[in-house]
Amino acid sequence: MDLISPFPVQLEDQPHLPAAKVALTEELEHRGQVALAALLPVLGLLWATLGRAASEDHRITWLLSAALVAAILRALLLRRPQGSPATRHLRFTLGSTTIALLLAVTTWLGFPRLSAMEAGLLGMICAGLGSASLVSMAASPVTYLAYLVPIIGTLAVASHAHPVPDHPIVYQALVWLFLVSLTGLSLRVHFSLRNEILLRIRSRELALRDSLTKLHNRHFLNEFMGSEAPQALRAWRVEDGRRSSLVLLLLDLDHFKSVNDHHGHDAGDAVLCQFADLLRETARKPDLIVRWGGEEFLVVARDTVRVLPIALAERIRMKVETHPFLLPDGSTLRMTCSIGFALFPFLPQAPEAMAWEDAVGLADTALYLAKAEGRNRWTGLEAGPEPWEGPHATLNAVKANPREATDHGLVKLVLPES
Ligand code: GH3
Ligand code: MG
Ligand code: MG
Repeated sequence: MDLISPFPVQLEDQPHLPAAKVALTEELEHRGQVALAALLPVLGLLWATLGRAASEDHRITWLLSAALVAAILRALLLRRPQGSPATRHLRFTLGSTTIALLLAVTTWLGFPRLSAMEAGLLGMICAGLGSASLVSMAASPVTYLAYLVPIIGTLAVASHAHPVPDHPIVYQALVWLFLVSLTGLSLRVHFSLRNEILLRIRSRELALRDSLTKLHNRHFLNEFMGSEAPQALRAWRVEDGRRSSLVLLLLDLDHFKSVNDHHGHDAGDAVLCQFADLLRETARKPDLIVRWGGEEFLVVARDTVRVLPIALAERIRMKVETHPFLLPDGSTLRMTCSIGFALFPFLPQAPEAMAWEDAVGLADTALYLAKAEGRNRWTGLEAGPEPWEGPHATLNAVKANPREATDHGLVKLVLPES
């Protein structure tokens, strides 16, 4: 994700966007709404002043009160962005409509010379302009233009077609001044909030990434799995256990310590970065790659059918084996890696019995078996035909002695066909 891009972050383009990041964006959007609600009394004052300029009738107190009620109503309607996007959109629309109607009424009373329709139009314009800055924050700048151009265009036509006979120039100058300042204000709110969102997302990004390989780190994984694991369990239930939604692959470079020992730490770092790149190239877009620690990496493959982990593991193994790792001194080095994988949910009979962390633990056990078999290979663990009595005790037994657990039918090894 390019955060320095002049365009707003497209939330829907971020497959790994953790719930926390969405919550942060919503929090800032909410602050924007509150700021706008607070601005509305000022807006009311401005309308009232304009109203006084255009009429003999002093209705300033009424106007201010009405604008204040509108502001409070709007703030209540947009309290905290909760619920589904559709509900939030409905509340946003209701909030904008309320303020538009109230502004229309106050404008009509404040400008007795205007027809009800013209006053309504002006009220809608105000609310539309204010809303535009907020709506456009989460969408593209084109949305902003889509709001702004028709609003200004309509007003331009309306003010020329129906000039107020007594003070046409003063009236038009005031309206245009008002519009320009409101547009400027909307733009300011829009850009400052957007910048803050980007800045905060960026600093969170930095905290959630490994500085060497730029892959996500374990903090990110925890956040990601916080929403992904329950979703995987739901998908499992919906699909009636026909497929496992997640495959967890743990990868470890073979004899990596000797790279550091023989070529230096920088060479080790270069190998790690290239290994990370190979993983990026091999994994599919929705998959998550995490630096698990040291020279170990975790790939969370999503929406997979059961045959896929084998294909993915073999693809990664082959890619690493055939890649000439370039060292800082210009020489190249051949490396291999070992891979262990497990599915999540792991137990078809009791999908909820084990957490995703347990599945990573089983992938680690599988990795240990791959190392023990001579490295440069992959091993997977699947639930065996025997039921697990007391999943956690069985899990510990499997991890302590996977071969015996295989003999007892508690787990099944997934191995390359030889
Ligand atoms: P095995 O085949 O059993 O996995 O052996 P190994 O040598 O790969 O594994 P071992 O766990 O013995 O060594 C891992 C080494 O990785 C030790 C540590 O110094 C090194 N390492 C961990 N993080 C980094 C890093 O960020 N940069 C570099 N250059 N080395 C690192
Ligand atoms: Mg290791
Ligand atoms: Mg290693």
